This record gives sequence, C-alpha cells and structure tokens, in this order.
Amino acid sequence: MSEKSSEGNLDLGLQNIQDDLLVLKKTDLELAFLALLTCKGLKPLSRWEKPLADNELVSLQQISLLTKKITRTVKTGKEVIETVFSLSPVYIKLYEQQFGDTPIDKSAETQRFEGFLFGYPPCCIEQYIRKPYAANNLEEKDQKILFHWACKNCKVTPLLLDSYRSFYNVLSNLE
Ligand SMILES: [Zn+2]
Repeated sequence: MSEKSSEGNLDLGLQNIQDDLLVLKKTDLELAFLALLTCKGLKPLSRWEKPLADNELVSLQQISLLTKKITRTVKTGKEVIETVFSLSPVYIKLYEQQFGDTPIDKSAETQRFEGFLFGYPPCCIEQYIRKPYAANNLEEKDQKILFHWACKNCKVTPLLLDSYRSFYNVLSNLE
C-alpha cells in the first residue's frame, strides 16, 4: 500500500478496521461499503439480502456493528434470509418488529420505513415512490455509489456525496 493511501485511511479512522473490511470486501465490495457507511454512522441500518458466513458476521461485529438474521418469505412462500446490521440495537429491533417473518413487499409504507432505517433522504424516497428512477442531475459515477436514487435537484444527496466518495475510494484501494 502506498504511503499516500495509508494516510488517507488514517484520516478517515480506518486503520483499526481495515482487516475486517478486507474480509467483507473479499465477499463483495458492496457489502464492505455498506458496513463502512453503517459503522461510520452515515446509515442507521443496512440490509444484506442474503445470509452471511460466520467469519463475515464476526468481521461486522468487530467493527462495532450489531447483526441480526431476519427470516422473510417471497410470494411463492419460499423463505429468504436477510442479514441486517447497525450500531444501534433500537434500529435492529425496529427492523425485526416490522419485517421479521413477513413477506417481502414494496408498498409505499414499506419503502418509507426502509428508507428511514437505511438513511435515505425523505425527498428521494417520495420521488422514488411517485416515479422510480426519474431523471436526476447526478453524474452517473456518483449515482452508482449511492443506495438510493436521488431526486431531481436534491438538496440532501450532494451533502452526503463527499463522504460516500471518500469512503468508496479508500475501500476500492484497500488490499
Ligand atoms: Zn432528494
């Protein structure tokens, strides 16, 4: 690793969590990115729509995240296992109470509550409910690192993007 990127990591306070982020990145860069955004408080709670292996759960826990396996069902009745993680037991409990052992649904009510838990700007959630993927004025490379679809002329997303970009860049270069 170059000296410059180590300094970058130190600036973002990542030196103690690099090894765990690497474990997660080996599974999926997106999983590691969600974990990083959540452990830095940019997302109250995140959901991985699959079960995780023990070593992946341990890595999440070692970077201060609480984890919970949630059982859902799809239309066919088949069970689906999700993994949620958060710094806060309250958010884990809210997710479990609302969605544990329930069918996966995409109602407006669900999207609003999920958006709240996942740290999405309310303006973007409402726009997405009215019309998903409506044109916005973000650059494609910025939209790509977000987990919500930004509304047009969003006043909140640009405030989040600097942090998202910094964390994403550090994580991409981590090896
Ligand atoms: Zn917005």
